[in-house]
Amino acid sequence: MNFTNIPKIELHCHLDGSMSVEVLQKLLTDNGEQIPIDELKNKIMAPDNCQSLAEYLDKFTIPINVLQTAHGLEEAAYDLAKNAAKENVRYIETRFAPTSHISKGMKITEIIESVNKGLLRAKEDFGIYSGIIVCAMRHLDMDTNIQMLRQSRELYGEGVVACDIAGDEKNHTNIEYKAFFDEAKRLGMPYTIHSGECGNADNIAEAIEVGAKRVGHGIAMYNRPDIIESCRNKKIGVEMCPVSNIQTKAIRDFSLYPFETFFKAGIPVSINTDNRTVSNTSCVREWNMLNSIYEFSEDDIRRIYRESVDVCFASDDIKEKLLKISCF
Ligand SMILES: [Zn+2]
Repeated sequence: MNFTNIPKIELHCHLDGSMSVEVLQKLLTDNGEQIPIDELKNKIMAPDNCQSLAEYLDKFTIPINVLQTAHGLEEAAYDLAKNAAKENVRYIETRFAPTSHISKGMKITEIIESVNKGLLRAKEDFGIYSGIIVCAMRHLDMDTNIQMLRQSRELYGEGVVACDIAGDEKNHTNIEYKAFFDEAKRLGMPYTIHSGECGNADNIAEAIEVGAKRVGHGIAMYNRPDIIESCRNKKIGVEMCPVSNIQTKAIRDFSLYPFETFFKAGIPVSINTDNRTVSNTSCVREWNMLNSIYEFSEDDIRRIYRESVDVCFASDDIKEKLLKISCF
């Protein structure tokens, strides 16, 4: 099966972890910094056998440093959507924490507008639709996260499609952020939540309890039929990111990867990269990897496409357009 040609939907992709080496090097050069390409690759790409989550997270330092200007953010977003379009991704939701991009004084709304500018330019040039998910961060205080959310709300429907919370889920589980999600509900913003990646299955149950429409990763529920059933019944989309899950040891052995368990149980699963550059991956690589443990049929591919559209945060108008695209 050639996974480059089939139309795809990507719902879990971090902007800062997905900057191509070329664009990153160009932005660094603009800032007067020269890092030889091999050294740069070492600094921003995690090895397949990553030793720790800390080692993985360290790879974001340089990208975040250059993503402090309107130009950098716009170029990174354009580049990401361009690369996704090249592998026939028809709709991409990209996410980032606006609060990570304020060190040179940009406002939350300016940061989002810059990213959206890049995405809209890519839509013009390559026809790829997109949406922005703004991430709150678990290590920040509630007030900072809620302020970010309220400012992002001004651009809901104009680039922003949803919110999320990312960071250390082991020590800060979803229920701690109930006030944040209550505020998102009040503002009419849907949300997905990173859950069951490095945290346990109960954190996925908590995500459902606080009203998440989707969960990021969800790996930890592989042996919890009760939570799997709850995802199926409530049509909670699970954003699977195989390569990243192996690197961060969300699962110890790829043969145990629960894709088939979730898919056969009737959960709407999507197949995603998480971090294209940090994990040195692409949607095609993710699909090929899964295909090595679960052979996709044409019907499976159609179902994943359709259900990914169903659970995406795009407007009904865009969903309708995406559903008209046929996989074969
Ligand atoms: Zn993620």
